[in-house]
Amino acid sequence: MLAAGLVLAIFATLFVSARGWSDDGTDLSPAAAELEPRWSILNPYHDVDWEADRQYKANFHTHTTKSDGIMNPHAVVDAYHQLGYDVLSITDHDEVTYPWTAFSRLEPSALSSARMLTVAHIMPRSLRFEDRDPSRLGMIAIQGNELSMHHHLGSFYSDHGRTTTVESSLQAIMAADGLAMLFHPGRYNRPIAWYVDLYRQNEHLIGLEVYNQGDRYPRDRRIWDSILSATMPDRPVWGYSNDDAHQRSHIGRNWNVLVLPELSASWVRRGMETGLSYFVYAPDGHSGPAAPMIHAIEVDESNGVIELAGSGYEVVQWISAGGVVSLGDTLRLDEHHELGPYVRAKLHGRGQTVAGTQPFGIRRR
Ligand SMILES: [Zn+2]
Ligand SMILES: [Zn+2]
Repeated sequence: MLAAGLVLAIFATLFVSARGWSDDGTDLSPAAAELEPRWSILNPYHDVDWEADRQYKANFHTHTTKSDGIMNPHAVVDAYHQLGYDVLSITDHDEVTYPWTAFSRLEPSALSSARMLTVAHIMPRSLRFEDRDPSRLGMIAIQGNELSMHHHLGSFYSDHGRTTTVESSLQAIMAADGLAMLFHPGRYNRPIAWYVDLYRQNEHLIGLEVYNQGDRYPRDRRIWDSILSATMPDRPVWGYSNDDAHQRSHIGRNWNVLVLPELSASWVRRGMETGLSYFVYAPDGHSGPAAPMIHAIEVDESNGVIELAGSGYEVVQWISAGGVVSLGDTLRLDEHHELGPYVRAKLHGRGQTVAGTQPFGIRRR
């Protein structure tokens, strides 16, 4: 969690140095204050080198015949590999389908075995699992599972199994030095204050799904915006788009693009912790129109300007406090009076494809 903590520390420092007070505590003269930047902006992409860094495709939520999916673990891995994914976490319900090099030692779920007998036509020919070596495939495999006895929760870098409450599961994941992500919040009716408390109390709870299995729960994003309106600018909550695949037709519609200097296990984890990603939804998957890509995001803090460069999009919406506040590649904070404590960009491309940035924290100085 060092990286996430570092980002927060840097941001806190920015705010401390932005109060308009000199080091010895005396108020700066109005003339001097006018030269100070008018905005503090928490830019999750602050350390990204958009020229040199590369973009890696990731899915953090998918199922296999180890739980209620209908594809075997190795077939799921192969399907993502064929679509060019770099990072994959298999997240079976309360089951850790990991490591990939030992799939063959795992047994299929009782559900899969029963289905094999009753609806064999939708099943793979065999429930014998084959091993896969992520390094030979050029992929990063993330240990994961979907804790499902409560509000569904993605658990990563942890072999933690079942507990009965989100709070106790999060404690166990923290004890294992894991990360967590809330899945499809739009399925539930939890009060926003419940989410806000969870995020404030659990630094290792990095974010939540804002698209799930296509777009099953559009309310996911309304919940996200409500959480951000309460936690930002101090506590970012990263947004993710995940297939939650249970069958082949679910694969390749939702993904996340990690923007990293290299594809390594440590950089992937750091990217998850610090929001070095943007999320994508392509309703027709990889056979449909290409989704928008983001090539660069520049933040000019002194003038309160966020500028985005990308391709494959027709319009950019800037969203704050749950509403669209501006359109176009460039957002000038000074031109808007109805801003909440964050802003995020959403790029709309052909075929209703979407790419979305992580939230930028904003504070008027
Ligand atoms: Zn779920
Ligand atoms: Zn799931």
